[in-house]
Order: sequence, then structure tokens, then C-alpha cells
Amino acid sequence: MRLQGKRAFITAAGQGIGRAIAEAYLREGADVTATDLNDGLLEGLKGARCFALDVTDRAALQSAVADAAPDILVNCAGVVHAGSIADATDDEFDFAMNLNVRAQFHSMQAALPGMVERGGGSIVNIASVASTILAAPNRYLYATSKAAVIASTKSVAVDYVQKGVRANAICPGTVDSPSLHDRLRATGNYEAALEAFIARQPMGRIGLPEEIAHLAVYLGSDESGFTTGQAHVIDGGWANG
Ligand code: NAD
Repeated sequence: MRLQGKRAFITAAGQGIGRAIAEAYLREGADVTATDLNDGLLEGLKGARCFALDVTDRAALQSAVADAAPDILVNCAGVVHAGSIADATDDEFDFAMNLNVRAQFHSMQAALPGMVERGGGSIVNIASVASTILAAPNRYLYATSKAAVIASTKSVAVDYVQKGVRANAICPGTVDSPSLHDRLRATGNYEAALEAFIARQPMGRIGLPEEIAHLAVYLGSDESGFTTGQAHVIDGGWANG
């Protein structure tokens, strides 16, 4: 039980990577608060405290995080905007930054005072390899926002390293999740889009949410006590060329 005795707060725990992290944290003995915009998706997370939470609602997010007093904060909520700079509107820019970046800013602000008071904590922010690490086609707003997630994580890490709080970003490559299939369908040719996504993977396959969850368990646990401020790439070798 690698997370025994730790309280964890997870956003977007209903499906995909967030769901896999919530399940792994429960298996490892954490006391889990699992939240999602759509609380119907949280069904079946036995042993977790589950409720609906829109991370773009600052007051609701900050009071939920402060109440949970987490030792581990996992900021997973995020949206993929598909398109180049030519396709992006100001409204979409605001939406991507509010959901992918500002919500993490707000939840960390709510979690940090308690973590410092209790002598430590671990923040795990879900970024993406499409950020500062590599440029994927048609991910202009997404990559811009996920690059900000990495910078935000590093800034928190440097300011809190002597207060016992660690902050790390996870940068997944392409991972099998419900929204990935939506994006593939949205191209108009699901099979061809899936083939193209797999073709750019040196391992010849896309990742599994459970594989990302293993890294999130490590980063949440004391096993990772000597790492902070890093963008941990987990992408099947994509960024390695
Ligand atoms: P997903 O996109 O299939 O599911 C997203 C979840 O977020 C849903 O349960 C949804 O209800 C919830 N959500 C949406 N808006 C919300 C809001 N305002 N407040 C709270 N919850 C909200 O899951 P995924 O693809 O595993 O993505 C999870 C995270 O991982 C995202 O930040 C995403 O950018 C990142 N990521 C995903 C991939 C991938 O290929 N799947 C790759 C890199 C990074």
C-alpha cells in the first residue's frame, strides 16, 4: 500500500487518465476525494468520496480542496482544442486557459497553505507532451495551455521546495481515453486518424490510462521524495524521435 495514510484530491476522475489514477490511488490505500464535472461518471469508485465539481468554478473548487486538506493534489481536468492558430478564437483561447491552466492555479492556491502547515505534500499536474516538449499538428491552443501547466508547476516547485511540498507535471503522449475516440471520430475518418496516431508512436501503440496512473502513484508517494519541478514524459518514445 504505497499511499496508505495519504489524502488525495483528484479532478476529472470520472473517465480516462483521472479515473485510472483514482482507481490506482484507492488500490494503494489512499483516502480519495474523486471529483468530476459529470458526477454520474464517478459511479463505481468504491471507497472514494465522490461529488460533482466544475474546476472552472473557482469558489466551489477552492472550498472543496480546502475541505479535503489533501496530501496529494492531482489536477487532471483538461480539454483538447483541435486546430492550428488559424482556427483558434478568443473564446476558445479563454476556455482552454481557464480549464487547463487557471483551474490548476486555483486548486494549488487552495491546497498549498494546508500542505505547508502539515509539513509537506505532493502536487501532480497533468500536462502533455504536446507543450514545450514537442509540437503536434493542430494542437495550437492545447500546447500553449499545457506549456503553461509545466511552467506553473515548476514555479510552485521552486517556491515550495523548502517547505516540503513537491510539484511535478506528467506529460503523456497519446493515451486511450473516451475523449481520444471523440477526437478521432471528429476527423471524419476514424480509422485513418487512429492509424496516423499509432504511426507516430515508436512503440507502435498508444498508451493506456493505467500506465499514466502508475507514474501518478509514484509521484504522489514518498518514493518520489527526491523529485520536484519536473515534466515527466510518458509517451511511448514519441518525443524521443
Ligand atoms: P477525457 O478527456 O476522456 O475525460 C476528461 C474528463 O474531464 C471527463 O470525465 C470530464 O467530465 C472531465 N471534465 C471536463 N471538464 C471539466 C471541468 N470543467 N471540471 C471538472 N471535470 C471536467 O480524459 P483524458 O483524455 O484521460 O484526459 C485527462 C487529462 O489528461 C487532460 O488534462 C488531458 O489534456 C490530459 N492528456 C490526455 C492525453 C490523451 O491522449 N488522452 C494526452 C496527454 C494529456
